[in-house]
Amino acid sequence: MSANRILELVESAEETYRDMSLASVKAWKEKTGGLAIGFMPIYVPRELLHAQGVLPVGIMGGGDDLEIIRGDAYYQSYICHIPRSTIELGLGGQLDCLDGMLFPAICDVIRNLSGMWKFEFPEKLSRYLDVPQDFTPEMGGEFYKSELLALIADLEKRGARPYDKEALRASIRLFNELGGIVRDLYALRRASPWKVPTAELYCLQRAATIWPVEEAITILREYHELVLADETRTPMDQARVVLAGSFCEQPPLGLIKTLERSGCYIVDDDFIQVHRWITRSLDVEGDPLEALVNGFLFDAMASPTRYCGDKTKGTELVTRVETAGAEGVLFCAPSFCDPALLDQPMAVASIEKAGIPWTAFRYSENNGQFQVIREQAGTFADSIKLWSGV
Ligand code: SF4
Repeated sequence: MSANRILELVESAEETYRDMSLASVKAWKEKTGGLAIGFMPIYVPRELLHAQGVLPVGIMGGGDDLEIIRGDAYYQSYICHIPRSTIELGLGGQLDCLDGMLFPAICDVIRNLSGMWKFEFPEKLSRYLDVPQDFTPEMGGEFYKSELLALIADLEKRGARPYDKEALRASIRLFNELGGIVRDLYALRRASPWKVPTAELYCLQRAATIWPVEEAITILREYHELVLADETRTPMDQARVVLAGSFCEQPPLGLIKTLERSGCYIVDDDFIQVHRWITRSLDVEGDPLEALVNGFLFDAMASPTRYCGDKTKGTELVTRVETAGAEGVLFCAPSFCDPALLDQPMAVASIEKAGIPWTAFRYSENNGQFQVIREQAGTFADSIKLWSGV
């Protein structure tokens, strides 16, 4: 019974995130009359949008369901895939129900895409959300606050509800709750990865960038309770790995299933980081706008897209491996992803120093063939099982 319900929840999540026509967003708009604003990976302050009555909608590319016809003309062949599929979706009209798009500052490709968007869709809100790389309150904090105020003003101009402190506080509470459930699921997967297959967690997290937060909380909570209670899922002799590098363009679901079938338990990953970008619940006392700023400055995840000052790159990955009780690292980055691939040698230096085995491969969101990756990941998992600790 519970197995059926788990399947139902995961299938509905997969259907939601694969639906390029955004039917659930259209239905929400019809019901509420509110605005819907798309956002790209990695992080935007969804609390702010929610507080102004706006539905934040995660646009994570076209995956393996979309044929790219016009998108390729916008980017050179040595650029990753996600901007092409996003442009394709825009030009194809699939994103027409969105009232705008937010492009968080993570790399030059996204910056360029935000410029193209302004050019192609002048009637829509198109905002490059700049974020600080200085983490002092006086400098980076003030800068980020001014960005948030500008975003508030932009949304108001488009007809969103005026900014209200108490509304933001209430929205922060909701997103704190969602973040808490996602963190609980990550903790459960670290402890008992057979209970929370990564392919399931991935589908649920992707859909949770599209569902209204209230609905996402209900569904993810139910899933958490069901998998906790499910006794039919039992452990297998798989290698525990951390998957690093897939923070922006998301891998196809088939790739994740392939890795799990090849003998790997993925016990930590970089997928859909918007739910976990701020690593703890935001303060609900005091000024809620300050809470958003402070969360970004002091409690955001370490990421190749974020300046890490004097710290050694890769140290955080070693910590993650240790916290997850992982036996190795799979570097799994999108082809041509500069932030991921430029960081990788430094991360490798750190994990090698710590004696952690690793292997690396690349993907594109529209990959359909996984045989080579299956063999590579399978061999890696076998070698861990056979020789680690020898
Ligand atoms: S996949 Fe990498 S290079 Fe491409 S847009 Fe995302 S962060 Fe930038």
